[in-house]
Amino acid sequence: MSSIFTKIINKEIPAAIVYEDNECIAFRDIDPKAPVHILLVPKKEILSLAEVSAEDKALLGHLLMKASEVAKAEGISESGYRVVVNTNKEGGQEVPHVHLHILGGRQMTWSPG
Ligand code: 5GP
Repeated sequence: MSSIFTKIINKEIPAAIVYEDNECIAFRDIDPKAPVHILLVPKKEILSLAEVSAEDKALLGHLLMKASEVAKAEGISESGYRVVVNTNKEGGQEVPHVHLHILGGRQMTWSPG
């Protein structure tokens, strides 16, 4: 079954899109946990990071490259930011479509809750 992110990818529901190419889309989180909170999502439907395979190697590299570029475009690259991939139940993943959270614009704390 398609996730809410597939509906955003297919433009069936709106989102504040900040970047898009053939392989991924980045949009603002609807419930931001930091002044900048962007979700970077591959268009390929992969349930979680636990589900990736060798054929996804280039895509995963692409996502990290784009996370870096989106952070620069958002003006948080120099000050710093955090990239998070919640994975499965104990990882706190709610949407079953792998995605990177890009969080910045404030001091992050450690350790995560
Ligand atoms: P997860 O907990 O799966 O790592 O993160 C899912 C994220 O998706 C949450 O931060 C949540 O606020 C965000 N989210 C859920 N539904 C929507 C939506 O319809 N639009 C947007 N922009 N973000 C969403």
